[in-house]
Amino acid sequence: MERIDPAGAGRIGQVVILGGGTAGWMTAAALARTFRQRLSITLLESEEIGTVGVGEATIPTIHWFNQLAGLDEAAFLRATKATFKLGIEFVDWARPGHRYLHPFGQYGVPLPGVAFHHRWLKARAEGLDLPLPAFSLATRLALDNRFAKPTSDARSILSTLGYAYHFDANLYARHLRELAEALGIVRIEGRLAEVERDPETGFVTALTTVSGERLPGELFIDCSGFRALLIEGEMQAGYDDWSHWLPCDRAVAVPSERVAETTPYTRSTARAAGWQWRIPLQHRTGNGYVYCSTFLGDDEAAATLLANLDGAALAEPRFLRFTAGRRHRAWIGNVVAIGLSAGFLEPLESTSIHLIQSGIAKLLTLFPDRGCDPALATRFNALFGADMDNIKDFLILHYHATEDKPEPLWTQCRHMALPDTLVEREREYRRTGRLMLGSEELFREASWLAVLNGQGVTAEGYHPVADTIDPAVNRTQLQQIVEAMNRAAAAQPKHDAALAALIA
Ligand code: FAD
Repeated sequence: MERIDPAGAGRIGQVVILGGGTAGWMTAAALARTFRQRLSITLLESEEIGTVGVGEATIPTIHWFNQLAGLDEAAFLRATKATFKLGIEFVDWARPGHRYLHPFGQYGVPLPGVAFHHRWLKARAEGLDLPLPAFSLATRLALDNRFAKPTSDARSILSTLGYAYHFDANLYARHLRELAEALGIVRIEGRLAEVERDPETGFVTALTTVSGERLPGELFIDCSGFRALLIEGEMQAGYDDWSHWLPCDRAVAVPSERVAETTPYTRSTARAAGWQWRIPLQHRTGNGYVYCSTFLGDDEAAATLLANLDGAALAEPRFLRFTAGRRHRAWIGNVVAIGLSAGFLEPLESTSIHLIQSGIAKLLTLFPDRGCDPALATRFNALFGADMDNIKDFLILHYHATEDKPEPLWTQCRHMALPDTLVEREREYRRTGRLMLGSEELFREASWLAVLNGQGVTAEGYHPVADTIDPAVNRTQLQQIVEAMNRAAAAQPKHDAALAALIA
């Protein structure tokens, strides 16, 4: 029987991926698992050029990708030296001496009538003296170095949890490479020398390596990192520069010795010209200082980082440069950019690996035929652009809602003009306690609530439906939730013990 081919251009049979960092191998593994033997996939990478080699903290959407790739959790934890992550602790962000956690999972429990946080806002307006974090089981566990996985039983308070991982990015890429190669992906070692294009359509038709190997294809995935060799070098996509909102443009990274007891959360500590990350792994701790080069030199940044490690440094500090923003179009013709080639937002909320997998998900949904219908690219670019825009607003909130920080970076960020979308969202929250989110946004109510509340942005009102609940009943129910969380938290194992049990 004849196969239906609505695009009339034939199915794609040959895909070439340029780059073997986290993005390249995630894309390779996902395509190989999804299309099985129907696609012939070649991946070109250069060991001499190497990968960016950082990118160690994730968010709970990682479970979607690991499932798609068919990873066994225990084997993955072992292979990547991973630890569990229940959220991010922000130290000295709102003001010096202050700390809060952005937890994964929910605040409170779902109750009838109105979203939980409106009940809390109402109770607070009526004199209840219980802070928001008291209603987050993930926060309670994290700050006591305990860990439990969420259950799917909605009656259990453990169902309010969410979790992700910290892992060694190089080991993760290697793990995925083994999987992808076992599924038939062909890896070519070499440096890109030339790109062939069809003079009529402008489509890329083949890549040639320095040693003269020619890699023909019908679809090309640009995973070449910050170099963006195909999407920018060839297709000239253009870059939307967001450094006026997110001025940090450098990072210095260094691994240090493992700490005695690993914490199930990433720590982000605000510094004079940016912030420092601390990511605990099984065998070492990942550290880095993200900073703004207008206000701080490289030597000073490295010295600050080295003076603020939990253990001895294990390597020389490594410097990275970037510009916050996104490729104006991440899909042009038959070239799709995934990973750093598509844009970059600093790792404050650990979103880059998520953006890789959400790019892969979109590519799978919109996978083209050989003609590469431009409508698919338009849709991809609109969705990817919206993802980046929304995350950008969330990051800006962290920089802008601060007080008592006199350094020039913080003064500048406190007074900068904000995107209209963020102004509107903050205004509505302050007035009514409402969080007006689009259905496709990555960060949901609990995340916005955590950071707004953590950075000192408070709501004056709450939803009118909360007034239908008797104040005494509301207060009793909230206190019962806190007591249930206290009991549940005390019963969970320490993080290292939970990890050891799962790996074993
Ligand atoms: P790369 O790792 O740079 O890979 C590019 C590939 O292209 C390499 O294989 C290279 O060899 C190949 N290549 C390039 N040029 C050529 C050529 N001419 N010929 C052949 N091959 C070529 N993300 C998170 O999710 N969480 C984090 O905590 C986090 N922290 C980060 C901290 C910093 C400071 C930075 C800069 C990024 C961080 N990221 C984080 C982002 C994360 O590191 C990246 O999203 C991820 O590693 C994907 O990178 P990539 O594969 O796109 O690029």
